Amino acid sequence: MSRGTTRGPGDPLGLLRKILALEDRKGYQDTAVAGGLANFVAVQARTHRPGSDDGHAAETLAALARLFRGYDQLSIDERRERVAQAGRLLQRAAGRPPRPTVPAPTAPRDVQAPRVERARVPPRAAAPRRLARQARVSALTDPVTTLPGVGEQRARQLEALGVRTVEDLLYLIPRRHKDYSRIEPIGSSLFFNRECTIKGTVVSVDQQRTRTGKTMVVAEIADDTGSVQAIWFNPYLARQLHPGLPIAVSGRIERQRGTLVLRNPEWELLDAEMLHTGRLVPIYPLTRGLYQKQVRTLTRMALDAAAHLIVDPLPEEIRRRHGLLPLAQALEAVHYPDSEADERAARRRLAFDEFLVLQIGLVQRKVEWQAQTGHAFRIDEELLATFEDRLPFTLTAAQSRALGEILADMASPRPASRLLQGDVGSGKTVVAAAAALVAVADGFQAAILAPTEILAEQHARNFSSLYDVLPEERRPRLALLTGSTPAGEREAIDVGLRDGTIDILIGTHAILEERVGFARLGLAVIDEQHRFGVVQRARLRAKGYNPDVLVMTATPIPRSLALVLHGDLDVSIIDELPPGRQKIATHWIEGDRRPDAYRFIRKEVEAGRQAFIIYPLVEESEAIDARAATAEYERLSTEVFPDLRLGLLHGRMRPAEKDAIMTAFRDHEIDILVSTSVVEVGIDVPNATVMLIEGADRFGLAQLHQFRGRVGRGAARSVCILVADDVSEEGQRRLNALVETQDGFRLAEIDLEIRGPGEFFGTRQSGLPDLRFASLGDLGTLQSAREEAHRILSADPTLSQPVHRPLRERVDRFWIPGAGDLS
Ligand code: ADP
Ligand code: MG
Repeated sequence: MSRGTTRGPGDPLGLLRKILALEDRKGYQDTAVAGGLANFVAVQARTHRPGSDDGHAAETLAALARLFRGYDQLSIDERRERVAQAGRLLQRAAGRPPRPTVPAPTAPRDVQAPRVERARVPPRAAAPRRLARQARVSALTDPVTTLPGVGEQRARQLEALGVRTVEDLLYLIPRRHKDYSRIEPIGSSLFFNRECTIKGTVVSVDQQRTRTGKTMVVAEIADDTGSVQAIWFNPYLARQLHPGLPIAVSGRIERQRGTLVLRNPEWELLDAEMLHTGRLVPIYPLTRGLYQKQVRTLTRMALDAAAHLIVDPLPEEIRRRHGLLPLAQALEAVHYPDSEADERAARRRLAFDEFLVLQIGLVQRKVEWQAQTGHAFRIDEELLATFEDRLPFTLTAAQSRALGEILADMASPRPASRLLQGDVGSGKTVVAAAAALVAVADGFQAAILAPTEILAEQHARNFSSLYDVLPEERRPRLALLTGSTPAGEREAIDVGLRDGTIDILIGTHAILEERVGFARLGLAVIDEQHRFGVVQRARLRAKGYNPDVLVMTATPIPRSLALVLHGDLDVSIIDELPPGRQKIATHWIEGDRRPDAYRFIRKEVEAGRQAFIIYPLVEESEAIDARAATAEYERLSTEVFPDLRLGLLHGRMRPAEKDAIMTAFRDHEIDILVSTSVVEVGIDVPNATVMLIEGADRFGLAQLHQFRGRVGRGAARSVCILVADDVSEEGQRRLNALVETQDGFRLAEIDLEIRGPGEFFGTRQSGLPDLRFASLGDLGTLQSAREEAHRILSADPTLSQPVHRPLRERVDRFWIPGAGDLS
């Protein structure tokens, strides 16, 4: 292996030597360089005119240019002679004895001796198109192993990406595309630092060692305008590349000490269909052991082998109305678009499908649901007034308005589904309690569903103390049902629910179990809605005679989006906090000031307060997060706060363990709770006054706001400390926004501005099945899909017309039971 002597445009003669050697090895077919030798030498001669640089080289080049003029017209023997002559010219120019790479005239072809140096042509992977033809894909649901070359190992890797079937591959959407569609002559000086593709011939391949001892493969690639070095840090490539290969390489060209260099470019053979270079090249999500090239080959193969099986769920009329591509075309273009516009159109089509299926499901549910009659509650105004009067506070205007909207729903015979949005601490609980009271006063029961045991318990306590102000005979009788309710108590609850001696059941998922039956369920309240899906909502409803449903969430969503997204819900918003709320002082510090933060926490704990310390997502793995948080917990317990009571909470713990820790924290058996992001949204520990968030820039704005909402719930002054170093520009905007405002809706808007609506909506927050292409930035598409959903359903409410059959299949598949279960 040689130490890299770089040779580029600065050494045209060296380059020519290699090319001539190659021409010799290839039997004088004029294939050593793309465009032919005559052309190549002429261009070289033009770019190195006498006087410009090395005059000596320029003269030689001029001579060579004359020598090679008309080379392509010559016979093989004549060509051999020219090349030999050129070799002598070059030799003279170098003033050195002939180098072995410069060809001496060789014997005629037919008596040719085997050449040791001749590169072995490696068996080349067949092009995907060719392989696709061999594939026996008979249905889109065939497993990926139906495709040639996909064995068990590959199938496992794909499975990690959620790809099991050929159809999954079609829907494995690239994260983005790299634009390698600009094909440039090497000699063009216009393209530095821009991504582009060059087409040329491999002139030499060399293995070298970097200063750090890694092996790199350096290939020189030439076209008729110059040459460029391609460097890969992958020794394996030395076996795949050899002089004479026509090749396309894509990447960013840099100039390095006078040499043009491409680092780790994408490459492929020129005779192959262009998958990896020379076009908009898809960049896929990957998993360990899987490479872009392999995934591209697979998606190409899947598209070719299965295109004929794709059935478009959208009738042509709908496509035409909304200017949408046919599905097969969209799937092709979302992977291998001809242009950015092509790709956008493809994504739009796929997003439309997704929105449509989503909206059809939502609208269908709403229509079905509202076609039934529910109960028109008689509102006991007097009791309500007593309740409000005796509360320890006055309802805010926003609370009153929301309650008014809910009561109007209840008073109407139409079964209602309402989303109650209110920032953390805005007082949604009391509104729900008032609604439940109205239901009970009219002889009905209410159910309150919370995502975790600790939140259910918290609600039970809160409801009970709110109702305490009522005269005893008017007080609703409450029961709490969770996974850890003892069997005996459960039975008592079952009985009480059926005979109507329990008015309000508060609990977790346990409420949804089959055996839980109500005598007269009239109102169902679901807290922290994003943990429950449409399916749970439906199940809860089914327990009553079309009870009204109230869904509460603390994740603010701008109203326009909420209306469209929660297609089956009406929306109320509490956009005002109760008066006298303390501002939570929010500070952003860098890691070197951590000791100050620790000192502050210690001071608060000594004053009888409690603190949260949150650790960020390290990677998208709970196991790794848990380990990182555990390590920090160890460090904090032994080095920083050895004398204080610390608790640890992470996603790898069992629910019962998590609940036990949260309960201990609530009951002040723990001073400092060290946690990953699993810490409960909605948990109320009024004595906690410090929220320290490590790696704060790694969290989304909504989540940071939720964390912060865990403190400042009592009378004491609270503080939120964000720790983050080297924050990206976007991260800075987020952290600054958090420091500046405490208004959740304002933060939601800022978040929307920063991230764009697509990102803004993790589906987790929306409580809906996964949206993969649909981006809410695309409100236009969303709206037209919603209109289309209405149009389709009003003509064919059950999608039973043949033309709607494929669509119905999609809807059924999208809305499979449990798909909405995001808890
Ligand atoms: P969230 O909307 O986050 O669920 P809560 O219902 O838990 O908020 O209310 C937060 C706190 O505010 C509770 O302690 C509650 O008693 C109190 N609260 C609710 N409404 C008012 C009000 N109008 N005035 C003063 N305090 C209120
Ligand atoms: Mg709450």
